[in-house]
Amino acid sequence: PIETLYDLEKLSVLGQGSGGTVYKTRHRRTKTLYALKVLRSNLHTTVAVEADILKRIESSFIVTCYAVFVSLSDLCFVMELMEKGSLHDALLAQQVFSEPMVSSLANRILKGLRYLQEMGIVHGDIKPSNLLINKKGEVKIADFGASRIVAGGDYGSNGTCAYMSPERVDLEKWGFGGEVGFAGDVWSLGVVVLECYIGRYPLTKVGDKPDWATLFCAICCNEKVDIPVSCSLEFRDFVGRCLEKDWRKRDTVEELLRHSFVKNR
Ligand code: ADP
Ligand code: MG
Repeated sequence: PIETLYDLEKLSVLGQGSGGTVYKTRHRRTKTLYALKVLRSNLHTTVAVEADILKRIESSFIVTCYAVFVSLSDLCFVMELMEKGSLHDALLAQQVFSEPMVSSLANRILKGLRYLQEMGIVHGDIKPSNLLINKKGEVKIADFGASRIVAGGDYGSNGTCAYMSPERVDLEKWGFGGEVGFAGDVWSLGVVVLECYIGRYPLTKVGDKPDWATLFCAICCNEKVDIPVSCSLEFRDFVGRCLEKDWRKRDTVEELLRHSFVKNR
C-alpha cells in the first residue's frame, strides 16, 4: 500500500493539463509504477468533486485511483499507470484504427459509461486525451475534472419522484440534471469513434477555419456528418445514433450496448 507521497519517486511527466500535471512515478519499495496527478486545489469545488468521484469508482473500464493525498495546496491522485498514453497521443502518432478496433473501443467506453450512469455520474469530457490505453491495449476512461454527480436515471422504481412537481421532474429528468448529461457523453463517444477511424476531428472539414463559429455550425447546424464510404452499414448506423442532434432521440448507453456494431465485442 502507498502510505505517503514520499513512497513515490517521480520519474517523468506524462501529461500536462489545465488543472495540473501528471507524473510517472515508482514506488520506492515495491518498484510498482503509478501515475500521479497533482492538482492545485485552492479549495476548488471541482477538484473536490473529482476526488469524491474517483474514490467511489471501481471498474475495469475506468482508470483506477488507489489513493488521494492532500499536501498543502495540492491534491494528489495515485492512479493506475496507463503505459500507452491517450487516444490523443495515438492519433497524433497517426495510429490507424481499423473498424474492429473502433468497435471494441466503443464497447469498452460504453461499458464504462454504463457503470458511471449507474453511479449517477456524468463524465462531461469524453474526448481522446481523456481515454487512456494500458500495456495490454485496453482503453479506459479517465479525468473526472468536468464530471457531475446527478440523480440516478430510473425514477419509476424508487418512488422518489412521486412527490416532485412537474417542473422539478422535468429538470431532473430532462433538464440540466440527469439524462441530458448522460446523452452528452453518448454524443462525445460518437465523435471519438469517428475521429479514431478517420484519423482527424470528424465534424469539420479539412481547410475549415479553426474558430468557434465554424465549430458551432459543425456541431449544431450541419445536417450530415461525412462518414467515409468504407464504413460498414453497422458502423454508419452506430455513429448516426450517437450523433443524433436531438438528445431526446439519441440512443442511450443501454441501447447502444445492444447495437450489432459493438455487441459481443
Ligand atoms: P487534465 O484534467 O489536466 O486534462 P488528465 O487526467 O486528462 O488531466 O491528464 C492529462 C494527460 O496526462 C492525459 O491526457 C494523459 O496523456 C496523461 N495521463 C493522465 N493520467 C494518466 C495515467 N493514469 N497514465 C498515463 N498517462 C496519464
Ligand atoms: Mg484531460
